[in-house]
Amino acid sequence: MRQVLGGIDRILARVGKRFVSSDVQGETITIEARGTVRRAPCPACHSWSHRLHGRYVRKLEERPMLEQRVVLAIEVRRFKCMNANCPRRTFAENIHALAGRYQRRTRSQARALHALGHALGGEAAARLADALGLRTSADTVLRELRRVPERKRKPRPRVIGIDDWAIARGHQYGTIIVDLERREPIEVFAGREAIAVAAWMRAHPSIEIVARDRAGAYSEAVDIALPAAKQVSDRWHLVSNLRDNVERLLYRLGPQLRQAAQQVNVSKVTLGRQGILSRNSQRHGSV
Ligand SMILES: [Zn+2]
Repeated sequence: MRQVLGGIDRILARVGKRFVSSDVQGETITIEARGTVRRAPCPACHSWSHRLHGRYVRKLEERPMLEQRVVLAIEVRRFKCMNANCPRRTFAENIHALAGRYQRRTRSQARALHALGHALGGEAAARLADALGLRTSADTVLRELRRVPERKRKPRPRVIGIDDWAIARGHQYGTIIVDLERREPIEVFAGREAIAVAAWMRAHPSIEIVARDRAGAYSEAVDIALPAAKQVSDRWHLVSNLRDNVERLLYRLGPQLRQAAQQVNVSKVTLGRQGILSRNSQRHGSV
């Protein structure tokens, strides 16, 4: 049986799994697979975790083989995110290379149904799929056709952060846009001109809040493209601006401050003496 299942190791290795056993029941071959890695990255904060939270089996319909239906029974583990600042408590390991989220079939099976549906439409595709041993219905074919591939799905960011970044420090700058809710960069482009930034923003009307630096260009871009969006200065730039201004002020006032400090020292000494003197004189006076 292992020789017949030649390609299975390669397919499973893409998602960090290995073959455990295969079982034939009637017309169905079930292939059981388990994990080879002991840790996984959290999809929200990207920190690695090895703390196991639980496990479950996900059954995926694969393309048929030798007149038999093939089902992959993949053990999927849940991990506990160890990052105290992360909104996710637990997460399941990612097997997206094998099957899309919530899908009950592998990507290869889904691709086959999609191709059939695209060529023939729902009913005819379902009939041909049945003849080829791909268990499906017209509804499933149509659903598969409507499914937009995940990589082509346009992000609909709501809260973004925008900042410049140095391609070559001091010479060439680009702009980076981060989806602050999903915590991932969604766009990077050369230059930081308001017009280019505004064009990108106009194509993303889902944006409600923009966190930015205090320079004019990005603010202008938001004003042009998304006048209803709320603009906030991000904390890093506020603190950075404050620090720069305090530094500049101290530098400018340096000579006066030094002079004032000397005067304070001098007057402290004098005052101190006067204080003793006056107290003494008061005492004398009272005698
Ligand atoms: Zn996390």
